[in-house]
Amino acid sequence: MASARRQEGIHTEDDYLVRIIRSEKRSKTVHARMVDGVMEVRAPVEMSDVELAPIVEKLRKRLQRRHTKKSLDNDALEKRAADLNRRYFDGKLTWESIRWVTNQEKRYGSCTPSERTIRISHRLAQTPNFVLDYVIVHELAHLLEANHGPQFWKLVNRYPKTERARGYLMALGIEEIDE
Ligand SMILES: [Zn+2]
Repeated sequence: MASARRQEGIHTEDDYLVRIIRSEKRSKTVHARMVDGVMEVRAPVEMSDVELAPIVEKLRKRLQRRHTKKSLDNDALEKRAADLNRRYFDGKLTWESIRWVTNQEKRYGSCTPSERTIRISHRLAQTPNFVLDYVIVHELAHLLEANHGPQFWKLVNRYPKTERARGYLMALGIEEIDE
């Protein structure tokens, strides 16, 4: 195995985390793929950061575009929520609607318990699925607990990737999703 030097960096708010691995293998090309919600880029060791930056940017845009196109689908969102309801709430929750919205400037998700409606910001379509699932679970939990008290977090923590997703959002500069 070739030795690899790891570098982690964070781009702007809407971006995937990018991890750059310098590989001494003979390959002269740059490859990118998603690994655990981080965009992993393999680049030849002799390529400079200055040469690499625009290539990473291009690959990142392509990857995110593909992901966004695939994700902004309300039926798919509904299905995802139903699946999460089965897994973490024993299928007991009911809601009127859950849909993508593009008009939430500050909030990434919101829930109106009295109307049983949930809105998810389109910006989350560009985050890895485990992050999106966390936000859905978070908003589903608000159907039972309107505030962010201990009971609320007990519900949300049934989703095993909660801490990881919150860490990911924090790395993107998002401390709270719906306050
Ligand atoms: Zn909340």
